[in-house]
Amino acid sequence: MTRETRTFISPSEIAGVQFECTKCHAKVTIPMRTDRNIEVPTQCCVCNDYWFSSVMDTRHRAVVTAIDQLTKVAKMVSELESQGVNLSIAFQLATHENTVA
Ligand SMILES: [Zn+2]
Repeated sequence: MTRETRTFISPSEIAGVQFECTKCHAKVTIPMRTDRNIEVPTQCCVCNDYWFSSVMDTRHRAVVTAIDQLTKVAKMVSELESQGVNLSIAFQLATHENTVA
């Protein structure tokens, strides 16, 4: 028997963004905010490895912009749902198939 599990997440369920240092694998999670952009760290808080040269690094700004856009999507979906649109939007997460003998 093959069982397939599908996991969906609506934008409003995104509570935070996790950053993982690829050098030491320390993780930090920053809560999503709707009132302003979250502060994306420029370096690891454990091993101090620099992820970006500064907040002016275009790659850092790209991460900030991407997270900001995600926040806007969550806001737009929430507004649609509050306007009586009979539609719910969720994103499917990539999962692995489980095989049960
Ligand atoms: Zn680190």
